[in-house]
Amino acid sequence: TQRLLNMSGWVMFQVTSLFENIGTVQNGMETISHPHTVIDAAQAADLVVTRGEIRFEDVQFGYGDSGRPALNGINLTIAPGEKIGLVGPSGAGKSTLVNLFLRLYDLTGGRILIDGQDIATVTQETLRSHIGMVTQDTSLLHRSIRDNIGYARPGASDAEIMEAAARAHAASFIPALVDSKGRAGLEAHVGERGVKLSGGQRQRVAIARVLLKNAPMLVLDEATSALDSEVEAAIQDSLIDLMEGKTVIAIAHRLSTIARMDRLVVMDGGRIVEVGTHSELTAAGGLYARLWARQTGGFIAEDVAVKSLELS
Ligand code: ATP
Repeated sequence: TQRLLNMSGWVMFQVTSLFENIGTVQNGMETISHPHTVIDAAQAADLVVTRGEIRFEDVQFGYGDSGRPALNGINLTIAPGEKIGLVGPSGAGKSTLVNLFLRLYDLTGGRILIDGQDIATVTQETLRSHIGMVTQDTSLLHRSIRDNIGYARPGASDAEIMEAAARAHAASFIPALVDSKGRAGLEAHVGERGVKLSGGQRQRVAIARVLLKNAPMLVLDEATSALDSEVEAAIQDSLIDLMEGKTVIAIAHRLSTIARMDRLVVMDGGRIVEVGTHSELTAAGGLYARLWARQTGGFIAEDVAVKSLELS
């Protein structure tokens, strides 16, 4: 029982939200929180994604004039279709790495390449149109469920929207939604004066949106707050569907996600300190193994991993 309790409450690292304390702007088809204005290059080209390879080359970055680099010499190549889990203690630089990939800031040094194209040389609109995001605080529009799912792909039919909703396990609750004006199902409005969705429902709407968008690269910032186990299973199931065939960068907290990643990239103090699978890293006895041991209360990692996977 003790072990089960440990596993069910298992959250690897505390995170602050990906885009904390910063405003939101509408960017093309995706709403992305935006800290300040990053300007497109004068001759910015359209990003063309053929394979979905992501390459960080000696990336350096510091926020403002603090002088302290938030990222220092990041080198990482993510193969087309590969799924990477970013892990590490708070402040390690995980969110910063994702922010730079989305080009919310310009680099201080180095380059980020997508299929050989430096992201600083392509338009932000085409960059972000090729990236799907599921973050822990995805904001929904104060509009209908249809708009919330469909705005990633203007002109999508109701059938396409409902198919995405079904794949995101949202079809079970959408038909029952009725807002204060009597609008129901896909017509029901969310947010102020609309229906209030639970955290798990919001996440499923967000996943449906990203499924419909069908971008070749995905950023996932996993929720740390506990959801009930049935909802959690539904969301994990939809995420597996969503990640299929995509290149994925996930800030991963849950074992069920971590175990599914091709490689874990362990960060500390703005650097990559270890790379490997969960089993390799727990066996290596480094930072990951120590963080793991702390989070699992000293249980033998492999044993917990297997048991938890059986549960998920
Ligand atoms: P967490 O797990 O807590 O989210 P993280 O690994 O994602 O941490 P980052 O948020 O990337 O870490 O932070 C890396 C470093 O950059 C930290 O020292 C942090 O204090 C600093 N930092 C992050 N965001 C900002 C910001 N908007 N302005 C100034 N410094 C920042």
